[in-house]
Amino acid sequence: MQPQDHLPSRSSSPDRVLTSIEESLVKDVVPCRNLGSFVTTLHSEPVCKLVAQSLHKNQACMEEYPSISKFKQACISILADLWNKQSSDSPYGLATTGSSEAIQLAGVAMRNVWMAKSVGNRRPNVIFGSNAHVCVAKFAQYFDVEPRVIPVSSGSGYTLDPLLLHGRVDQHTIGVFLTLGTTYTGHCDPISDVAAYLDKLQCESGFDIPIHVDAASGGFVLPFSAAHDGPAWDFRIPRVVSINASGHKFGFAPSTVGWLLWRDPGLVPENLMLESSYLRGSQSEFTLSFSRSGASVVGQYYNFQHLGLEGYRRKISQLLETAYSIGSQLEDTGYFHCLSNAHNHCRGCGNQPPGIPVVVFTFSETFKKQAPSASLADVGDRMLEQGFAIPHYRLQTWGSEGEDIEVLRMVIREDTRDQVRIASRCLVDIVASTVVVSNE
Ligand SMILES: *Cc1c(COP(=O)(O)O)cnc(C)c1O
Repeated sequence: MQPQDHLPSRSSSPDRVLTSIEESLVKDVVPCRNLGSFVTTLHSEPVCKLVAQSLHKNQACMEEYPSISKFKQACISILADLWNKQSSDSPYGLATTGSSEAIQLAGVAMRNVWMAKSVGNRRPNVIFGSNAHVCVAKFAQYFDVEPRVIPVSSGSGYTLDPLLLHGRVDQHTIGVFLTLGTTYTGHCDPISDVAAYLDKLQCESGFDIPIHVDAASGGFVLPFSAAHDGPAWDFRIPRVVSINASGHKFGFAPSTVGWLLWRDPGLVPENLMLESSYLRGSQSEFTLSFSRSGASVVGQYYNFQHLGLEGYRRKISQLLETAYSIGSQLEDTGYFHCLSNAHNHCRGCGNQPPGIPVVVFTFSETFKKQAPSASLADVGDRMLEQGFAIPHYRLQTWGSEGEDIEVLRMVIREDTRDQVRIASRCLVDIVASTVVVSNE
């Protein structure tokens, strides 16, 4: 039945409405077969119970629901530790609706810090790679900041090349946005290298350019993986002023919750802390949204306490292991080439590059020669017929000769681990059949 787009004049029985809505919902892709999404689709029973108990508690009613505010502060402290706050730091943090809101706020704060120092009325600019999530470009557009986009390609390892900052940074640059675990290929920008470049630039030109780290996925992966002992990416780097992550991605919290931490409250200009007094007590917070259920915050806190460091390490390593093995298996067929680097781990390359549990792949060069007319988009469509949603997208001009690279992406989550195995076999069958067809 199609949803009714007008308000019925009369009431209906709950059962009737419930049944008709349920009939519609069951036709969606089964969440555990939605292989493209990063957002948590499996919630334990205690989490569901806590969500039901806190769904009606508005985060904005801080006086009435002090428990929600306390859980929020506890999560912020936990993240400050995971992201290696320094002894001289006193981080200030927020729960947001997700990384998108967090990124807007991080940008606004940077812009205001810049405004306080700038003279004249020049338009500020912000620097990010073409591998940044669309919400960074949104920030620039919505808040009238000139976007200076650094092209990323296979040649730069799908990450931002610090040398390309040359000539793009000036006294009107509010900051550089870097990504820890990109949406497109799962790679991590070389944050310490960019910081080193900006240190050098500061010595030469005096420009003091801050870094924001969009760790939407990586913020909950790197602290719990082997990358923990790798290069610093977080508050260990003095130039990193703020970091965001999505609790509802690898934080395993129910959607929607994001986290944004600044190293120091002084980085959030006071004129952004607007006061409101229409709920009990007066509150000054720096957010875009006001009313929001506290349920996802409670779910995040539960996960932290239940899983602990041990549990997060176990889960994250299982997800990465699955990404390694699926990536390797796909490459072993000879049909595919993986852009994501998670699978390199079991290729014995020694230093495992930091990454997140995704498998992003395209046709191998050999296969393209065998089946020149094969289409990755068609493969994605055929997978959907089998009930698996696997996004297909085009990385514009990311190829070694400036050509586009078409890819499919599978995100490994707790409840997709088995499904991804089934899906990969299915993928290989579909692709194998195209070879036969094109040979006929
Ligand atoms: C998912 C994602 C975002 C947006 O986060 P939401 O939590 O969906 O708002 C931003 N940046 C990156 C790198 C992401 O993967």
